[in-house]
Amino acid sequence: MSRLGTETAFEVLARAKALEKLGRNIIHLEIGEPDFDTPQYIIDEATQALNNHATHYTPSAGIPELRQAIARYINRTRDLDVSPDNVVVVPGGKPIIFFAIMALINQSEEVIYPNPGFPIYESMINFVGAHAVPIPLKMERGFAFDINDLERLITPKTRMLILNSPANPTGGVLSRSDLEAIAQLALSHNLIVLSDEIYSRILYDDEFHSIASLPGMLERTIILDGFSKTYAMTGWRLGYGIMPVEVAQAVSRLITNSTSCTATFTQIAAVKALTAPQDEVDNMVEAFRQRREVIVNGLNQIPGFKCLMPKGAFYAFPNITGTGRKSRDLADYLLAEASVATLAGTAFGAHGEGFLRLSYANSIENINKALDRIDVAVRKLER
Ligand code: PLP
Repeated sequence: MSRLGTETAFEVLARAKALEKLGRNIIHLEIGEPDFDTPQYIIDEATQALNNHATHYTPSAGIPELRQAIARYINRTRDLDVSPDNVVVVPGGKPIIFFAIMALINQSEEVIYPNPGFPIYESMINFVGAHAVPIPLKMERGFAFDINDLERLITPKTRMLILNSPANPTGGVLSRSDLEAIAQLALSHNLIVLSDEIYSRILYDDEFHSIASLPGMLERTIILDGFSKTYAMTGWRLGYGIMPVEVAQAVSRLITNSTSCTATFTQIAAVKALTAPQDEVDNMVEAFRQRREVIVNGLNQIPGFKCLMPKGAFYAFPNITGTGRKSRDLADYLLAEASVATLAGTAFGAHGEGFLRLSYANSIENINKALDRIDVAVRKLER
């Protein structure tokens, strides 16, 4: 248990809520979830499923209709040819990280993961007794990593490489040419790739590219995706993985031994989410695009802050070294002084030092208010 990490976002949320109880007005830019509600047609489908008594167990890997709908969706969005046998439905995207690492990684093997990155990668690698090898993401490369760094970090013990594009916490997106170079290394060193594509639909400029679509990669890639971010369904706990059939069978066995299956009525609603018109998703992404402009422009006016325009997800990740403060100190100060909850870059690993993460899944009004408050608080620091 001592090797298992945690997620700071939940801790900061608890601290912010405690301050709210004392009467403070906190602006929440720490949480990584859309502020929108789940589209009504998805809620209606789930309600109807419950009324139709869809209240029993399902097969561990998911109901056939949903596995079929996911396979079609993945084939359409990634130009792939996967079958329902490659699909495993789980309660959220997170269990794919948990189960894939449990199923595939042995003690003392090495796993390369992005840093700063989603903290659960490092936590799970350590949990199974493997070596977590961070690959630093570089602001000057738009928060991609340097391919030469990757080549240097691969050893005969390297078994898996984790990718996350678009990325949490940086908003960075891996280019097609980077993916091609990474695929070459994965093929020549016989690596498995865990490709976390949970933000694949929250993308502002480019088309989405999955490494699984490159020649020879589907057989060695596990795609993680889900409904949390795309359809504003974080609390439903609904995600899935695409993987080779033998891995799908192993992961299904882990599901049988832990959750048994994913809730039935949510799976029925998920079929609707994937097959209905996608206007609400497009509208949500459009709203994020406008907020992205507001927050990045505002952050760049604050003394000591330097922020790139994120290409995907809904996070701004400014460099704050110009304030002269460490990430954690600044995040604590902003909560105490400005009543704005943010996360230190170090909540996402050691290479997050010098950065803050601000989620812009919040109204433009609140974002502007937060920017004003941060500006005033940071200018006080200067004196
Ligand atoms: N992967 C990344 C990069 C995330 O940011 C998150 C959630 O914040 C997840 C996976 C997990 O998503 P879920 O809530 O569906 O488990």
